Amino acid sequence: MSWQPDRPADWLSLIDALAIILENVRPLPAETVPLDLSLGRTLAADVPSPIEHPPWDNSAMDGYAVRSVDVAGATREHPKSLRLIEQVPAGGFPQSTVTAGTAIRIMTGAPIPEGADSVIRVEHTGTAGDVITVFNDNDARRNIRPRGEDVRKHAVVLTRGTRLGAAQIGLLATVGAAQVQVTRRPRVAILSTGDELTELDNFDEVVAGRRIVNSNSHALAAAVRMAGAEPVALGIARDERDSLREKLQAGLQADMLVTSAGASVGEHDLVKDVLEELGMRTAFWRVRVRPGSPFSFGRVGDVAVFGLPGNPVSALVTCELFVKPALRRALGRSALYSATARVRLAERITTKGTLTHFLRVRLARDHHGTLLARLTGPQGSGLITSIAHADGLLVVPEAVHELPAGSEADVLWLDQADNTQNDLGFDI
Ligand code: AMP
Ligand code: MG
Repeated sequence: MSWQPDRPADWLSLIDALAIILENVRPLPAETVPLDLSLGRTLAADVPSPIEHPPWDNSAMDGYAVRSVDVAGATREHPKSLRLIEQVPAGGFPQSTVTAGTAIRIMTGAPIPEGADSVIRVEHTGTAGDVITVFNDNDARRNIRPRGEDVRKHAVVLTRGTRLGAAQIGLLATVGAAQVQVTRRPRVAILSTGDELTELDNFDEVVAGRRIVNSNSHALAAAVRMAGAEPVALGIARDERDSLREKLQAGLQADMLVTSAGASVGEHDLVKDVLEELGMRTAFWRVRVRPGSPFSFGRVGDVAVFGLPGNPVSALVTCELFVKPALRRALGRSALYSATARVRLAERITTKGTLTHFLRVRLARDHHGTLLARLTGPQGSGLITSIAHADGLLVVPEAVHELPAGSEADVLWLDQADNTQNDLGFDI
């Protein structure tokens, strides 16, 4: 479905809404950062290796480099004796060639000497002076890691669009990438709206029962950061034009703008009116998801504008479903969506209406190792505890209105679910 700016769409399916969002977001330019500051960043270019790794055939064991013919048939009763002609320390290079009846002592990682085709681990040998005895031939033709086995010269070791984690950073260091080209982090302005809101440092007003905390700004900033982008806090706009105009204008300096609340009919018109005065073309203004149906999307110039509902759960769920994939697109990520898992329901679930539901669930493994999903409790979109206690969002498709206990469903993981109350989670 393509965007028809003159006629904002309404009541879109999740898929149609996502398609419009993604076609309106482009990857940001690249910048160069030192390798050790690249954690969580996204590669902006393929990385070819200027070297072969490992650089030489090397030993996988501490042991003796030998010719396999010299140890064939060795047993504890009939060991083979070899003359030790050299010792190669870690970081050393062998000077001699292994010839018939000889062995060279070698450390893990050290280059294999000429003539040798095996490394006999030290545990299978004994020594007396410069004679070693080999008690079995299990290691014949083994324990040699060939040059270039890990990385071939000129091979692309990581492709653009890859998110850099610990292992990727290790690989980049291996191939000499002291500086890396990554996508610039999108700057995401976050604006909360509503006269009932106050900031954390005025918590007295909350205690006095006059205000509620603007928790969405905190939650959304964290979600944006988790996705690899940089939040820009705009604070709270009052439910009036001047306040909204000033804050929204500031927000349009960023790469993207995320507003929350002002989604009820009267208020929605206000936020939308002011944004349209500032040049927004609204692409759509409601989606068939719960929580989060009053979610809207548009663009002011190149700035994507996400109108999230105010209810804390709706704001976070629409951030997961719509903002995060857009951020990943802006980052040039090859993978746009969060991880999912197939789970079994621990209880019966019913839903109403033609909406895709995202129910907050806790996950735990049963004794077969199957992930069992259980609702975190009441599912009201204002109940922040319902998502704060969840490991994931259980997806109930539009056409499904009942899932019996024991049936299967998909779950979208939240925050990699580090809090999941599991044991190891796999068999050993
Ligand atoms: P609205 O979309 O303005 O009708 O707000 C829906 C609900 O979300 C109301 O109960 C608001 O008080 C609440 N809400 C709106 N904005 C925030 C926010 N920034 N932090 C926490 N709750 C909010
Ligand atoms: Mg409001």
